[in-house]
Amino acid sequence: MSIIQPLHIPAEWQNPHASCELFIYRGDLEHPQAPGNKWHKLKYHLREAKRIRARYMATFGGPYSNHLHAFAATLRDTEMAGIAVVRGELQPRLTPTLYDVANAGVSLWPCTRQDYRLAEQSELVSYLNGQYEGIYWVPEGGGGVLGAKGCQDWAADIDYLDSECDAWVVSAGTGTTAAGLLASEKIPYLHVVSALKGAAAQADEILSLASLVSEDQTNIAALEEKMTFHSDAHEGGYAKQSQALQQFLRLFTDANPAQQLDPVYTCKTLFHVMNRIRDGKWPHKRTLLIHTGGLQGWRGYSAALNPYIASSLDGEK
Ligand SMILES: *Cc1c(COP(=O)(O)O)cnc(C)c1O
Repeated sequence: MSIIQPLHIPAEWQNPHASCELFIYRGDLEHPQAPGNKWHKLKYHLREAKRIRARYMATFGGPYSNHLHAFAATLRDTEMAGIAVVRGELQPRLTPTLYDVANAGVSLWPCTRQDYRLAEQSELVSYLNGQYEGIYWVPEGGGGVLGAKGCQDWAADIDYLDSECDAWVVSAGTGTTAAGLLASEKIPYLHVVSALKGAAAQADEILSLASLVSEDQTNIAALEEKMTFHSDAHEGGYAKQSQALQQFLRLFTDANPAQQLDPVYTCKTLFHVMNRIRDGKWPHKRTLLIHTGGLQGWRGYSAALNPYIASSLDGEK
């Protein structure tokens, strides 16, 4: 099975006047325990933590966080112990995500939303630094220059397998992944689709980070010519789903039974692209969607919303 696969456009989104082909890079298949973009973002953080001989790696995340899930899985192969600062109270019954994280040996530290916002400036973090000597802190979501560098490498891997598409599409939360991909010379053109409401200003952050990470500190104007940032695809906000999106997911699944999209990011990204294709607003002939993983996140949604429930993700654990 190839890691780049064609996608079928459901009849409702086909446009007889445009010839658009869609492909998907199955980032969700790359790593058995940490599929998607998160382990690429963690790669250089792990190296840095090893280089400074940290004894612990610590990070932040919510109760269904893909980042925490990948963090726990990648730490399994190292000598370092993991610490996770979890947003909100821990419930007596852990979420499936936190259950996996704890099961991988990571210790969970609940924290108030206020402390969570303060991140490395919070009291909890000073307390933990006092308790455990030699902690390397990874920012939330594995961001920053090191996170983006890992995704820049990822772009080269993807390009090695695909040289025919005239545009790539990727979902964005913090935008770190997008910045890393954009920093790669290999990329044909990048559409970045945000899962967050009110993210328009993020385009500039992505461009600056991409410029910082790029080989010769490519100037921002040159990068800007290679990227479109979409901030109108959130379908109600982070982790929310509109009815139109839910219906799209069902029709998409009927047309593509072998592909699964995640509930927060990739489904919105693809919905947005398909809408543009239908409306004749998609200028590319061959488009590659980069699957950033996140399927474990379905465990935070009710079964009624999950179009893949028959294949039960829980059963795979
Ligand atoms: C975290 C995540 C993203 C967003 O990555 P950023 O680097 O924060 O923009 C996209 N898709 C999935 C599935 C994710 O888990």
